[in-house]
Amino acid sequence: MKRIRSARRLQSAVRSARSKGESVGFVPTMGFLHEGHLSLVRRARRDNDVVVASIFVNPLQFGPGEDFESYPRDLARDRRLLRSEGVDFVYEPAAADLYPREFATRVVVDGLDQALCGTRRPGHFAGVTTIVTKLLNAAGPDRLYLGQKDFQQAVILTRMVEDLDFAVKVVVCPTVREADGLAMSSRNSYLTTEERAFAPELFRALSKVRKLVQAGEIKTAASAVKRVESLLKDGPGRIDYIEILSREDLGRVRKLSGKLVLAVAYYLGKARLIDNVWIQAPKGS
Ligand code: AMP
Repeated sequence: MKRIRSARRLQSAVRSARSKGESVGFVPTMGFLHEGHLSLVRRARRDNDVVVASIFVNPLQFGPGEDFESYPRDLARDRRLLRSEGVDFVYEPAAADLYPREFATRVVVDGLDQALCGTRRPGHFAGVTTIVTKLLNAAGPDRLYLGQKDFQQAVILTRMVEDLDFAVKVVVCPTVREADGLAMSSRNSYLTTEERAFAPELFRALSKVRKLVQAGEIKTAASAVKRVESLLKDGPGRIDYIEILSREDLGRVRKLSGKLVLAVAYYLGKARLIDNVWIQAPKGS
């Protein structure tokens, strides 16, 4: 596995692979890797001749008061894991190179950030779309691998790729969970033992309400949200949002029908956890 720090170097490494007719898969990460990240790497390894992964904690997507400084980092361990998964190139850019003083550009996807994390973290998705644009320009992949765990991010990046004619196929992979259902996240490392014991309640609550919606027992968005709220209300943390939206365009719905996503964000100690499940509402409900 080759470590690359500059965009130019990565571009030329990928160019030479592509000139031999090899396909390239790309997995962007912020490091502190877990099985969720590695599931994307494995899928990329299966689908492509060459796999590029990046590790970069992107300052542009953190708001004031968020955890940019304290975000967990362990580059040596990340490199070991990526090497053992057969990654060809690990891109580890420096913030000062990606964002020199005169850097002035933002890539913004309108509309899709008017829900969920977009309304709670102003500027966050512009930070994500800007960095992913830069990373795609450096890695020039055929396929981009993203996790369903960050569903709004996947929807926004898919829109961006289509709108801006990036020649890349977006592949969204299922959320990898701990044995008790907690969605894996680098931020789970912030949790105390007591908080960690409560954390799986998020997925349990989402799963329970998914079942009720699919059985036709919950028919409106308001009652789905209320039910999740009541399942979480006695927990040690604080609900940031619970929303049930159309999965296609993240639009609001009143009566539940079609393809939906039920999503939660929850402050638990130093962590802000997010999770979501997909729901197919029954016909005629
Ligand atoms: P991050 O390092 O948190 O920016 O995540 C990098 C990529 O890994 C994103 O596409 C995430 O959606 C994905 N990812 C993070 N956690 C999981 C998980 N538990 N299961 C699947 N994909 C994940």
